[in-house]
Amino acid sequence: MFELTDHRLRQREYLLQISRAITAQLDVTSVLSLVIGYAVEMLAGNSGLIALYDDDGGDELRVRASAGLPRDVWPAFAPLLALQLEETAHERLRETLRDISTDTGLNLRQLIALPLTIRDTPIGVIYVFRAALNVAFSADDRQVLQAFADQAAIAVSNARLYQGVLREKQRLDAMIEQSADGVMILDNRWRITTFNKAMEQLTGWPREEAIGRPCAEVLGFHNSQGREICPADCPLQNLPHVPNPVVEGWITTRDGRELYLQSRYAPQRGARGTFLGAIANVRDITDQKREEELQSTFVSVISHELKTPVSIIKGYAGTLAREDATWSQETLRDGLRVIEEEADRLARQIQDLLDVSRVQAGGLRLELTDWPLPPLAQEVAHGFAAQTDAQFAFELRFPDDFPPVHADYERIRMVLTNLVSNAVKYSPDGGTIRIGGWAEDGRAIIHVADQGIGIPPEEQQRIFERFYRVDNRLRRETQGSGLGLFLTRSIIEAHGGRIWVESQVGRGSRFIFTLPLAPRRLEVHDS
Ligand code: ADP
Repeated sequence: MFELTDHRLRQREYLLQISRAITAQLDVTSVLSLVIGYAVEMLAGNSGLIALYDDDGGDELRVRASAGLPRDVWPAFAPLLALQLEETAHERLRETLRDISTDTGLNLRQLIALPLTIRDTPIGVIYVFRAALNVAFSADDRQVLQAFADQAAIAVSNARLYQGVLREKQRLDAMIEQSADGVMILDNRWRITTFNKAMEQLTGWPREEAIGRPCAEVLGFHNSQGREICPADCPLQNLPHVPNPVVEGWITTRDGRELYLQSRYAPQRGARGTFLGAIANVRDITDQKREEELQSTFVSVISHELKTPVSIIKGYAGTLAREDATWSQETLRDGLRVIEEEADRLARQIQDLLDVSRVQAGGLRLELTDWPLPPLAQEVAHGFAAQTDAQFAFELRFPDDFPPVHADYERIRMVLTNLVSNAVKYSPDGGTIRIGGWAEDGRAIIHVADQGIGIPPEEQQRIFERFYRVDNRLRRETQGSGLGLFLTRSIIEAHGGRIWVESQVGRGSRFIFTLPLAPRRLEVHDS
């Protein structure tokens, strides 16, 4: 009686240890080793095995843990594992055990085996062997083994659930990591816990440094005037009822770029609306933002530029048409000349606008012919010499054998006119304006140089952008829409050429562009 109680106590103690091991560690093999070790001991066996079917539902058993059986004898048990459980009481079983004993030198006389099941689905088998012939396994032994089998099944089930969750997490992590959008996850104090590769690229922050910091520190949104957005206008803090709040703004990346980002949040809230965390999708919308800004610049520049000639025309026309005044012939002529000039200017502006929209639609069509460039340069220079005062001198520098170019005559006239007009506009103290060129590597290189105010190095790229005008004193004093160089560059590039500027502030600027040369023809002389 005492012995039996002791036995039960031991069994309880072992099962308790196993269930502790199951909760403390997720390594299923060591839990299974513990289970089979205790089971063998409790059943006074001399060895035992636990074999499982593969995760993917295959019907072949494989040994996963053993007690009293070294690993190198496991393969010898394959014929036993191949038997159906119902067969274990039959003659075939005895034969199989005998064969394994002979093969391995182990003494296996009796066997008890039970299926491991998770929710009625078989997942494996537990086997315990005895060496002695005289004591047969009893119904009581089966009950004891059943308790251990149940524990083993729980351990396997937990481990599989854990593996499943782990796999799912790895899949989600990979999806977040590979997402083209920036993705970051925030905890309940707005600190970053996940920061994907796209976020690193967007912000210039390495993930190791970004993680753990408040998102406001890493993103640091500000508006175009430089005012910080996060402290006062955080939508996660201020708009608790909005399901997907959005914040937009400029950021200065760690490597010094200015980007306009849009961050869309999916907050998680607790039962009483407490903030638990959020996942944010972050996108770079700098190009869209710049385009929007350009559109509004467009409207203001254009309305100003078009209004000026119109009001001059209207003013002169109104004055000349007054019935209470008589004008001398000279005044009339001057007035009409101004009207004509302003009407021309208006027409040029409209032409520029049409060209800009053509360039944007990708439809700048060229009429390419072969012609000599110096006479055109001369004509443009003459035109300006006639309009400007003695402060300006014009010089042409082309070699006599300058070869013909292969280009659109009217468009290149526009290019030269633009460049010379700028040279005049941005030389408030006059000076010499030189137009020249040479041929090199099968292309023409043409330049227009002035001795004007010059262009600071950081502006030299930007002046070719749409509507871009350098912010200096002359910007207010000179008329312009910032379209001239944009169109000039588009025309040169449509010819397959390139344009750039060399300039020194206070010394002057030199615009240089390339054009294709006319293909050389064989000259045929009649004899
Ligand atoms: P716009 O002259 O109508 O402003 P452009 O596109 O022709 O527009 O030129 C863009 C800007 O580049 C000008 O506003 C001016 O600030 C600068 N720029 C162009 N040409 C010169 C030049 N020759 N010297 C100095 N600055 C120039």
